[in-house]
Amino acid sequence: MTRLLCSLAAAFVAFAQDKEPPSVSPGANGTAPSDAIVLFDGKSMDKWIARSGSRNLCDVRNGEMICRSGVGDLMTKERFGSAQVHVEFNLPSMPNQKGQLRSNSGVYLQGRYEIQVLDSLNNPTYTNGMAGALYGQHVPLVNPSAGPGRWQSYDIIFHAPKCDASGKVSASGSLTLIFNGVLVQDHVPVMKLTGGAVSENLCEAGPLLLQDHSGFKDAPLTELRYRNIWLRRLAE
Ligand code: MG
Repeated sequence: MTRLLCSLAAAFVAFAQDKEPPSVSPGANGTAPSDAIVLFDGKSMDKWIARSGSRNLCDVRNGEMICRSGVGDLMTKERFGSAQVHVEFNLPSMPNQKGQLRSNSGVYLQGRYEIQVLDSLNNPTYTNGMAGALYGQHVPLVNPSAGPGRWQSYDIIFHAPKCDASGKVSASGSLTLIFNGVLVQDHVPVMKLTGGAVSENLCEAGPLLLQDHSGFKDAPLTELRYRNIWLRRLAE
């Protein structure tokens, strides 16, 4: 009996090994791999809309989107569930500001869960609101912030909450975040919405959203630069 089970197991392993994974050509220097959806290619904002309804989105120059305060939150037209996401950002120097007021933005997954964007180099604030935090929920493991004027990156693995047939959440979502090449969130559960979520239905697909923080109390006007944004859909 044991021998039979071993033979069956070996046959299963051999079968599994026979299934070749799809080929994907990697991108150079963080650019999109061949099976990614490119959300910002450095040339146009065609894949984006402003939450405010404004038609004036960011300027596009030198492969970057340059977003001034007041444009409002930017959202992808594309909506998604579980995904691998890559975003690069470059923060302005704001030495006269501190804490949450120094170069605040955010990358919202599904328009609901904010990964904080902030100049967190020598800029203390509450720890679950610093750069690399899942805002209000999870403190980053370490702080690899590079400071203003430098290109920084978030590589995100997001699994959306699972829902049953009646539309109720049956399992929490999860987040893994690599910030400037350093692991800062290690498969943490996504437990609640961040304030300002575009939809409270956790079972719906949602956009990638870049936060315009200028509407918050005492928030200064600023200018944020993003580039090279892509995502790969993951199986639910
Ligand atoms: Mg923010």
